[in-house]
Amino acid sequence: MNGECYFCHGIVSAPEEGHIWLREHDSHEVYMHEQCASGHNVIEGGQNPAGELLITCPECGEVETV
Ligand SMILES: [Zn+2]
Ligand SMILES: [Zn+2]
Repeated sequence: MNGECYFCHGIVSAPEEGHIWLREHDSHEVYMHEQCASGHNVIEGGQNPAGELLITCPECGEVETV
């Protein structure tokens, strides 16, 4: 799946490394680069024990694991 980065509007092609896609998230989907996400402080304290990233959705503020 391809989309536009929420922050820089560049192409995000999930599931490529460093590309984040919040899918099936309520009624919206959000694409972002991991680099852009960390620059905007939406990545919560690194990874959880399963090795997933915790991302605060910039659209609705919910925390998602990806
Ligand atoms: Zn970006
Ligand atoms: Zn959301």
